[in-house]
Amino acid sequence: MSEKILAINSGSSSLKFKLYIMPAETVLVSGQIERIGQPSSEFSYTIAGKKSKLAQPMKDYETAIQTVIETLLASHVIESKHEIIGVGHRISHGGRYYTKPVIVDEDVKAKIDELAVLSPLHNPVNLLGIKAFEKLLPDATEVAVFDTSFHHTIPAKAYMYALPYSYYKDHGIRRYGFHGPSHEYIAEKAAELFGKQQTHRLISCHLGNGGSLTAILDGHSVNSSMGFTPLAGIVMGTRSGDIDPEIIPFIEEEFQMDSHAVREMLNHDSGLQGLSGISNDIRDLDEAAKQGNQRAQLALDVYAHQIQQYIGAYTTDLEGLDTLVFTAGIGEHSALVRQMVCERLGYLGIKLDPEKNAANALSIEAADSRVKVAVIPTDEEIVIARDVMALLKEA
Ligand code: AMP
Repeated sequence: MSEKILAINSGSSSLKFKLYIMPAETVLVSGQIERIGQPSSEFSYTIAGKKSKLAQPMKDYETAIQTVIETLLASHVIESKHEIIGVGHRISHGGRYYTKPVIVDEDVKAKIDELAVLSPLHNPVNLLGIKAFEKLLPDATEVAVFDTSFHHTIPAKAYMYALPYSYYKDHGIRRYGFHGPSHEYIAEKAAELFGKQQTHRLISCHLGNGGSLTAILDGHSVNSSMGFTPLAGIVMGTRSGDIDPEIIPFIEEEFQMDSHAVREMLNHDSGLQGLSGISNDIRDLDEAAKQGNQRAQLALDVYAHQIQQYIGAYTTDLEGLDTLVFTAGIGEHSALVRQMVCERLGYLGIKLDPEKNAANALSIEAADSRVKVAVIPTDEEIVIARDVMALLKEA
């Protein structure tokens, strides 16, 4: 029997979705709404290869989701709302509570809300998405798929911070890791493409506007660069990544900034944007650096250097490396970043083929590279849709 399942990936002011027929995994519609809450919101979607755009203000998530459902009905992708039997939501932080996806109930919603303090950019909008779907598709089963769950196999030596133990025991302050559906997809897809032996020790580099690296041993996460929150790890578009923790009280005292202002600065004004003063987008930095802009070059250099450091560290976690995968917006499209990252990793047996790299080919390693290097487009939505199906079968 085939079922229609929606996979929802909501960001701070955006919503991406795919409607699948499962278990065939056929995508009926994919789409995204950007700038929700602003007069310039825009809905773009693809049905049977045909792209359409709808520019209309959408004041909130409920209006945005209502627009999606009306579009699905108007285009006869569905004839009735009841055809969608499950909706899977990507949820940023599952904290200590969730090591696997769950069917949403009142308790799950309360916990997502409680954890909003740890993921202020995402958990609140994820919850808005759930509530809007509950209202608009009351017959569908809502499923929460946590960004943190894939990382529940990280060992204590890698997830503990060296703080007084009670912060961990009583308050759950530890590394969690994020981008779980993406890293999980990469682990599975790489094993399918290259075989289990070739992907025994794998590093997945999810390089998008947010970014994280994960060390994966036989398909299981053993370390990941984001931490207690998605602010940690490598430099990101506008997020700082790892910094000396003493910088925070120093800034608060020196510039009379409260914790809210500091959090804003670290999440929105830092990273590639803060370093370059130009943009959070690698394309702009590449362009500016070519014109001789030194801060754009600096941002690129810091970015590549930090990724190299994590690859070195994770090769130690994995006691060697078989495959390195690049994914997400930058990982999939920026030959420059991949080349900058790999050029000093010859000591690990990593060597790129410049032409394959420039072409964003699936395999971009040189013939004499000991390590396989791959570019694999991520697909978080299919992981979400599979999780919904698995839970519906159990229910
Ligand atoms: P994501 O968060 O995965 O959607 O990635 C978004 C980021 O990917 C953008 O901010 C850019 O830095 C980068 N990006 C997207 N397309 C390209 C491209 N064609 N070339 C280089 N970088 C790109």
